[in-house]
Amino acid sequence: MSDKKSDLSRRQFLQKLGLGAGATLAAMAMDPLNVLAGNMTKPQAKADGNAKNQMTYRVQHGTGEKISLLGFGMMRLPDEQDEVDRLVDYAIEHGVNYFDTAPMYKGGRNEAQTGKALSRYPREKYFVATKMSNYDNRLWQFDEARKMYEKSFRELRVDYIDYYLLHGIGGSGMDDLKHRFLDNGLLDFLLKEREAGRIRHLGWSYHGNVEVFDFLLNHQDEYHWDFAQIQMNYLDWRHASLNKRSWKRDADAEYLYDKLEKTGVQAVVMEPLRGGSLARMRDNLRERLTALRPNDSLASWAFRWVGSHSNILTTLSGMNQMEHLVDNIRTFSPLDPCTDAENKLLEEIADVMAGFPVIPCTTCHYCMPCPFGVDIPGNFSYYNEAVEQQILPLPDKQSADYMPRKQQFTEGLKKALPDAAAWATQCTDCEACLTKCPQQIRIPNQMARIVEVLRMR
Ligand code: SF4
Ligand code: SF4
Repeated sequence: MSDKKSDLSRRQFLQKLGLGAGATLAAMAMDPLNVLAGNMTKPQAKADGNAKNQMTYRVQHGTGEKISLLGFGMMRLPDEQDEVDRLVDYAIEHGVNYFDTAPMYKGGRNEAQTGKALSRYPREKYFVATKMSNYDNRLWQFDEARKMYEKSFRELRVDYIDYYLLHGIGGSGMDDLKHRFLDNGLLDFLLKEREAGRIRHLGWSYHGNVEVFDFLLNHQDEYHWDFAQIQMNYLDWRHASLNKRSWKRDADAEYLYDKLEKTGVQAVVMEPLRGGSLARMRDNLRERLTALRPNDSLASWAFRWVGSHSNILTTLSGMNQMEHLVDNIRTFSPLDPCTDAENKLLEEIADVMAGFPVIPCTTCHYCMPCPFGVDIPGNFSYYNEAVEQQILPLPDKQSADYMPRKQQFTEGLKKALPDAAAWATQCTDCEACLTKCPQQIRIPNQMARIVEVLRMR
């Protein structure tokens, strides 16, 4: 890891000097790191405490473009366009310039929402990333996939795409890659589109099966990938193969990151909070972090950890609430890299968390809708929350805690999912969702796990 600094963070240093917010901003304007990043513009404090022009940027190899280290994942945008515009306005005003979408997000409406919001700005103000989401085998045909590609330009209202990704590579292995991109000539077409300048940077997002990952990077001389998107956070760094029985991910993020760096391919990071699980943890773990940085959110720790790696181009966060956007911008404006001692602490926390029997769902909704009405991510989120709150696993049936905890689990589910028609109990094991999950979760098996808890006597 690079970009390490002394154990005393900038904020802690200023706190020790007893300097208030105004002095903090003045000091940040003189910070040599910001000077190096070209951020010498006088900062303007907002009512929420965020100054403009303090964002940390990374340089895109080859073009020298400055990409904000915080990227806006558009997947979870609210439905109302006014609200989308408000979030995008705040992001751009505070230096975020990378926006990531895909044709399949939000039932096919996400690119249009993104295009509407971004097209209000001059084209050079933002970088937009979208993907070839040809999962459905009807879209393996070249002409159908090309229609998806061309539609992206119309929805985004652009005549070039800054970052174009082969979406969800690796989930179903080499055959899937061949059907979707190699045998139908689609990859050759996309490479030509890059040559023609309609795609500025070409890469892929990786979702498991390291054979495919290695294949793509081992052919770097042929494909010249500009970037690759990987799932990386301090838990997946060494524990990505956790729950292997239900989750076929077979390489830790440390391996993926190192191989990208050695190959000279910059990384875009997805799931820095691992589906939110790093932003909500057991009290005893949370306290270890807040003792060191009382004013920092748990999410900021995870973002700082990712951002401390020098080969990261940008870190995507799926922000749909202003408070998350404000907090994340604060974290990256400028980034305060993790110290060695902080990295060690996060590694210890990851080791403890790896022992929790959670379901590795990132609430991406790719598996939805379920034909039988099951709210798949809703059930998994609640189950994971119950594990984190130590309601699960249930103690031995002889234990005095057994019935109270079981009741607590059921009551909690009623609150989380008031309509029982969306509960795991409705799962018929039809397997329609099975191939849709990028995390390779065996969804019906995990539903059965929840049902088992509900039915325990
Ligand atoms: S296996 Fe269960 S959760 Fe998955 S689609 Fe079928 S009914 Fe829904
Ligand atoms: S089960 Fe898989 S596809 Fe469904 S929301 Fe969770 S991670 Fe996404």
